[in-house]
Order: sequence, then C-alpha cells, then structure tokens
Amino acid sequence: MSTLIALNSKAIQFTAKPLKMLIGGRWVDAISGKRTEIRNPATGELITTAAEGDKEDVDLAVAAARKAFEEGPWPKMKPNERARLILKLADLIEENAEELAHLDTLDYGQPVSLTRGFAAAAADNFRYYAGWATKITGETIPSSTPGNIFNYTIREPIGVCAGIVPWNAPLMNAIMKISAPLAVGNTVIVKPSEETPISLLRFAELVQEAGFPDGVVNIVTGYGTTVGAALASHTDVDKIAFTGSTSVGKQIIQNSAVNIKKVTLELGGKSAHIIFADSDYEIALANAANSIFFNSGQVCFAGSRLYIENSIYDKFLADLAEYSKNYKVGNGFDKDTVIGPLISSKQKECVLNYLDIGLKEGAEMLIGGDAREADLANGHFVKPTVMANVHNEMTIAKEEIFGPVVSAMPFNDIDDVIKQANNTVYGLGGGICTTDIRKAHKVAHALRTGNVWINTYNITEPGSPFGGYKQSGLGRENGAASIDMYTEIKNIWVNLE
Ligand code: NAD
Repeated sequence: MSTLIALNSKAIQFTAKPLKMLIGGRWVDAISGKRTEIRNPATGELITTAAEGDKEDVDLAVAAARKAFEEGPWPKMKPNERARLILKLADLIEENAEELAHLDTLDYGQPVSLTRGFAAAAADNFRYYAGWATKITGETIPSSTPGNIFNYTIREPIGVCAGIVPWNAPLMNAIMKISAPLAVGNTVIVKPSEETPISLLRFAELVQEAGFPDGVVNIVTGYGTTVGAALASHTDVDKIAFTGSTSVGKQIIQNSAVNIKKVTLELGGKSAHIIFADSDYEIALANAANSIFFNSGQVCFAGSRLYIENSIYDKFLADLAEYSKNYKVGNGFDKDTVIGPLISSKQKECVLNYLDIGLKEGAEMLIGGDAREADLANGHFVKPTVMANVHNEMTIAKEEIFGPVVSAMPFNDIDDVIKQANNTVYGLGGGICTTDIRKAHKVAHALRTGNVWINTYNITEPGSPFGGYKQSGLGRENGAASIDMYTEIKNIWVNLE
C-alpha cells in the first residue's frame, strides 16, 4: 500500500514556472539568459530550471544591497520596526511551512518529517533574532585618562553581507545567513547551492510579502565557481558567511583577502561519537544510529567515527547493524522513509568510492552499500552502512564521507578515546554516551570541538552558538555569537571638560 504524501498544491504551482532571481526587489533572469536544471534526487526527474547567474548578476545584486544599506531605510529603521518586520516574516514562514517543507523534500530528497522540522526551525530562528534587534547595546568604559573623559562603544551593522550555502538543509542553512544580519540592520545577498535553490526562492517571495524594503534581501542563483567566487572576491561586499566544504572554505578566505572581508566559515567535520560500556544501552544504540543516518549522513556534524568501549564492542556493533538495517530507504514523500537519497549521482559515486577504499584498506562492511532495488533505481540512494575493523589511519576514519556511513573503532579507556577522537583535522561535533556524569563532562571538556552532545545528538537551537574548532570553521552562527559576527564595534571618546 502506498504511503506517499501528496505534493502540496502551492509547491506544484511554484515549481511549474522557471525560477528567477531576486535582485533589488525585482525578479530577474540571469543577464546571460542561462538556466540550470533542477532535478529530484529521488527520481532523477526534472523539477524546474533556475536562472544561472554569473559575475555580472552578482555586480547588480551587490549594487542593490549597497544602495539599500547606504540610502534605504533599513539600517536607520528603529529597532522595534525591524523586529516587527522580521516577526511578520516568521509568521509567513509558519503559514507556508508545509509548502516550504515539500519544496525542500522535492529538491534534496529528505523525508517530509525532517523538512517540516527545518521549516519550523526557520520561523523560530527569525523570531529569536527579531528579539535581538532591540537588544544590541554597547558598553560604557571607565576611563583612567586625566580630565573628564566619557568612553563608550556602539555596535553598528557591517554593511553588505553575502551568504553562500550548501545543499544539505537548503532552507535552514540559508536562514542562518539572513536572520542575524537583518536583525542588526545589514543587507544580504545569498547564493544557494546550484543543486537546491527552490525553497530559498519561495522564501524570498515571503520576504517581499512581509514588506522588506527593496535590496535588503537578494538571492543570486548559480554555480560556486562563478557566483560564489564573485561574491567572495567582490570589493564592495563587507562580510561573507560560508557553509560548505573545508577546501572551498580555504578559497573563500583567499578571495576575501582582496578587501579584508569579515569571514564566518562553517565547514566539514568528522565527529567522534563515544559509547562507553556504562551507557544506557538502548539510548546509546538509537543515538549512534541517528547521529550518522539522520539526513542520510549529509550532516557536517554527523557522528561518522563511532568509538565503542572494548568490552561491548562486538555486541554493540552487531546490534547497531540490526537496528539500522530496518531503516526504510526511499522517496522523502513516503511516510515510512527514514533515509532519503543523496543529493546527486556525483555524491553517490563519491560515497561508494569511499566504501571501496575502506574495503581495500581492510575494513569490513557489516551492512549497507549501494541501494539497487528497482523502485530506487533512478535516485541516488545508499543504504545505511556500518564499517567495522576500521582504525584511525584509514581514509574512511580521516576524511569526511558526507553519506550514511559510520566507521566503527574500539577503545580501551578514557585517555585512549580522547586521544583517538582528537586525532583529526576537524573539530565540529562530538557525542558521548555514558551514565557517569563525571566521565561525561571530563570527556566533553577534552574534546577539541565546537559542539558536544551527552546522551543525545543532533540538537541545535537558534540561541546556541554553533561552529567548529580547527579546520571545521571560523566564528560561530546562532546565539549572541552571531550578533558579534554581524556587527562592528565603534569606540567613542568624548572630552566632557
Ligand atoms: P561545497 O563547498 O562544494 O559548496 C558549498 C557552496 O559553496 C555551494 O553553494 C557552492 O556552489 C559554493 N561554492 C563552490 N565552490 C565555490 C567557490 N570556489 N567559491 C565560492 N563558492 C563556492 O559544499 P557542498 O558539497 O555543497 O556541501 C557539503 C559540505 O558542506 C560538507 O563538507 C559539509 O560538512 C559542509 N557543511 C558544513 C556545515 C557547518 O555548519 N559546519 C553545515 C552544512 C554543510
């Protein structure tokens, strides 16, 4: 019996037309007239086409964002008025959440249950930052300089802020590049992934419906090497926030040097999930599976290295394999689906190639691999995969696979696992399962990562700073940290004599 969720009628309407870009309040085609095909990763079917922007389109968007910043009302608007507009946008996201969720499922394949969560989280994120708009304060600093000196700081918006985002949670990744900068009065230009622009373009319609002034939010679609590189190297962009691979993050830093842009980077990861023998076994099992298979493993903080204490290693791995092989792999519109497709055939090839490398280097595949069933044949599906006999020097323990593949390794004691967990160039997330609270905190403090989950995983909230140590990033998104990332501090000295 089919358990398919019918595609939302507004989502059908939205994708029935070729998609344009939003620049300076107008919906426009690329100057070149070029278009990119957007395909459903579960079926391979063409969904629609998007304008394929280039450097000239970026120039127009930057000019529009600059005009809105210098001449428009947005940065000068009273904070409570900015907050009101942002709250209105949050309401519109909520009203249209089902459509936005369906557009994301159509575009990147993950289950509707997940994309509904992301749409709700997007509204939440805007509400959180609407609250910040009226709470951006400076300091008064006691001055030791002779005379009567009044010394204080104010916070000001940085200016034109660009955001470049990947495909693995299209709406949510983009929202985090829009909500905080808007709250403090910046203008923004966002480039979605060339694979997944749809939900962000629908969101941009809601921005207009909410009544934001023209040029405050601009969306330019297209490829990374053209639109993305043009934004990073543009001398009139003041700040760039990038989410994506570490290798592209390094190019963003290089290109941003042209005008010393402020830079925030959310990059790759190879997060360690540590299971101690004294864990609550059922919770640990569920956490281990969800930390890697959620979003088909296309998660920067996925628990892709699983460290299991020696005394329970064999049993835990066997149980994990049993637990995970029941996850339904399939179309995200099927109510039973847990594991949707990977984004593209290229990504699928990349993941399968890692499995080959792992096997050649001596790992053993307990479950998983290519999903070849007839109903999955046209999509880019990989089954939840558990790799055993892995050690830290193997490629599949070192490199980010970005698919539903966990590399399992045993450990002896706390010191051993801390050393192994930190033996990576990345530092994004980490998980710990134990019922010993002292051990949990000791390990949490020792992990060189920006986020640690104890007896849980995958939680993020708008109020909590998110980001990476080492090559997993630069700066933080969410929370008060993001306000810092989108404001300049000005120190003002006054002689009161
Ligand atoms: P990617 O780096 O290939 O692309 C990300 C974005 O950058 C896309 O929009 C792409 O078009 C653009 N881009 C590509 N080349 C560019 C260039 N030379 N200049 C400017 N922009 C360019 O990453 P991806 O494959 O789309 O996404 C997967 C990666 O993203 C993984 O490494 C994952 O860990 C990372 N990621 C990190 C976080 C985080 O918060 N730390 C979150 C999600 C994904």
